[in-house]
Amino acid sequence: MQAVCVFCGASPGRDPAHAALAAATGAAIGLRGLRMVYGGGRAGLMGVVADAALAAGGEVYGVIPQALRERELQHTGITRLSVVPDMHSRKAQMNEWSDGFIVLPGGIGTLEEAVEIQSWSQLGFHRKGIVYLDEDGFWDPFFALTQRMLEGGFLRAPHRAIAVRAHDPDAAIDALLAWTPSTESRWPA
Ligand code: AMP
Repeated sequence: MQAVCVFCGASPGRDPAHAALAAATGAAIGLRGLRMVYGGGRAGLMGVVADAALAAGGEVYGVIPQALRERELQHTGITRLSVVPDMHSRKAQMNEWSDGFIVLPGGIGTLEEAVEIQSWSQLGFHRKGIVYLDEDGFWDPFFALTQRMLEGGFLRAPHRAIAVRAHDPDAAIDALLAWTPSTESRWPA
């Protein structure tokens, strides 16, 4: 694994513990000598995670849509910034540049990116790990929802298991390093 993509809020959040977790995550990625890929802005937790990875000596690659360069405060101090035409190209580029994904607390944008990456894995378009990282149960309701999907017969166990959990940044990176993808197809024979 060479590069880890981080999805996180473009807002700082109300609880300073979330910004602290973002900073610890960026630092852990940089200290492990991994490249970090993210949304390319300085807004909210995105800026925190990028600055922390850079401060730890890591390379940071950002991918920002043209229309969000101002709103998400395009980061001018990162190693490489790709400006793309739209949100779809952003996700495609983030996926192309990354070997695994860490999902920090965030809002609808964070959830959307993480869930789409999981759906691509379920469809067999990639086989990379996805780790939801929290210290306070932030992602509990998401995992409760996928449990409900499983019980309702809408999600199969190997596909639910594509998304794993961790409660500190080093454990999240370890989970990505240890990730062994299921060979189970989305479409049963
Ligand atoms: P949020 O969690 O809503 O603060 O958003 C976090 C990040 O996700 C922001 O950089 C958003 O621009 C980004 N985002 C939201 N929707 C999408 C999408 N459909 N594709 C790619 N990035 C997105």
